[in-house]
Amino acid sequence: MANRSILVVGGGISGITAAVEAAEAGCQVFLVEKKPYLGGKVTQINEYFPKMCPPNCGLEINFQRIRKNPNITVITLAEVEKISGEAGNFDVSIKIKPRYIDGDYASCEKVAQACTAERPNDFNFGMDKTKAVYFPHLFAFPAKHVVDIDELSEEEKKALAEHEVVNLDEEPKIMNINVGAIIWATGWNPYDIGKLSNYGGGRFENVISNIMMERLASITGPTGGKILRPSDKKEPKKIAFVQCAGSRDEHHMKCCSSVCCMATLKQVNYIREQYPDAEITIYFMDIRAMGKYEDYYQQVVGKDIDMIKGKPSEIKETDNKNLVILSEDQFEQKVTNYEYHLVVLATGMEPSTANDKIPVDFKYDVDGFAVNGSVPGIYAAGCVRKPGDVATSVQDATAAVIKALQSIVVKEVS
Ligand SMILES: Cc1cc2nc3c(=O)[nH]c(=O)nc-3n(C[C@H](O)[C@H](O)[C@H](O)COP(=O)(O)OP(=O)(O)OC[C@H]3O[C@@H](n4cnc5c(N)ncnc54)[C@H](O)[C@@H]3O)c2cc1C
Repeated sequence: MANRSILVVGGGISGITAAVEAAEAGCQVFLVEKKPYLGGKVTQINEYFPKMCPPNCGLEINFQRIRKNPNITVITLAEVEKISGEAGNFDVSIKIKPRYIDGDYASCEKVAQACTAERPNDFNFGMDKTKAVYFPHLFAFPAKHVVDIDELSEEEKKALAEHEVVNLDEEPKIMNINVGAIIWATGWNPYDIGKLSNYGGGRFENVISNIMMERLASITGPTGGKILRPSDKKEPKKIAFVQCAGSRDEHHMKCCSSVCCMATLKQVNYIREQYPDAEITIYFMDIRAMGKYEDYYQQVVGKDIDMIKGKPSEIKETDNKNLVILSEDQFEQKVTNYEYHLVVLATGMEPSTANDKIPVDFKYDVDGFAVNGSVPGIYAAGCVRKPGDVATSVQDATAAVIKALQSIVVKEVS
């Protein structure tokens, strides 16, 4: 009889969906996540379209489903090292990193407060810092602290070791499991703005990515939700968005990530709410607000936005850290060079498998997205397979569960 357990790798919305759907169908599920918490990029989004609600509402419903289901084992700080076998019978080796701290919230928070070492806050894309002993973010699930041991001096290690809840001698562990099928849902990473050198990405402080804008607008972000430009914390009153930054471009990513136009339109609203008089410009090739999102596009462009049809060739920085965008304007048939206080690059979603492959002989497309069908019993789901919004990712994850169940049943009857 084939093993009816399912391994889900990646604890974003796609992996969480796959885990709860498979568990609610009666399978034993192992959900492996490399970060200290579940939720993936959705946890970093300020408000999410189409409903414009905080994403934590939707995530919490899923965390409840996980809490209530004894069929799901959540393994955080973990990565799959090896996979062997075939559909119905995969041996998998998982490496689990230590958390170095274990106790109730109050005891661990006391240690965090006492810790003097700091680290760049990856949750806010390095725009602020946390203590080296930290609670990953306000709504972290599981609600556990973690220690960034690499940021501790020998002296600080000695001081922390005095606390009962801390164990800096904890070693990485290897966990070996046998499962019938595997769902790979390791999602996406923001396309590296450092690769967009003509736009000053990573060089000019006031050129940020769209996902950084999500954190700037969030009350749990580095500025408590006030949109301020990074270089001098001043209120930006002239803001430009550059669409398709590194997307639909043979020098970067070929594909369209399908969400960046909608992300920009909602971010225009974030700015309008705080600065009703701000001058906002969108540089675009074409706006892709598919299907039902067309209405949203019409609402936002009605809000006095400058739409410049053209792909900027270069962004230059002035002495006071403003940005000048050089671009064509196809409507006006001229070349423009307008100045802004803040520029948001609408960068796309690069699949995690562009750099971090599935440890079997899987197929990938030109941008590194995983292509299903190459290994029976292993199915990619969500944004690691194709870029999309949350609703699309959830549907894709549910479909992957059906394929996984089918692969197990086929093994059982053959
Ligand atoms: C700027 C921006 C704004 C957006 N706003 C919206 C919006 O408002 N509404 C909407 O519907 N969609 C929005 N999206 C899209 C949304 O973010 C995605 O649909 C969603 O994140 C897809 O979830 P996922 O689980 O597939 O991937 P992810 O969210 O990337 O989750 C993948 C998970 O896998 C983990 N992982 C990665 N590698 C490994 C590994 N090797 N081992 C174990 N775990 C691993 C990651 O840590 C992560 O937790 C936006 C996207 C962008 C770029």
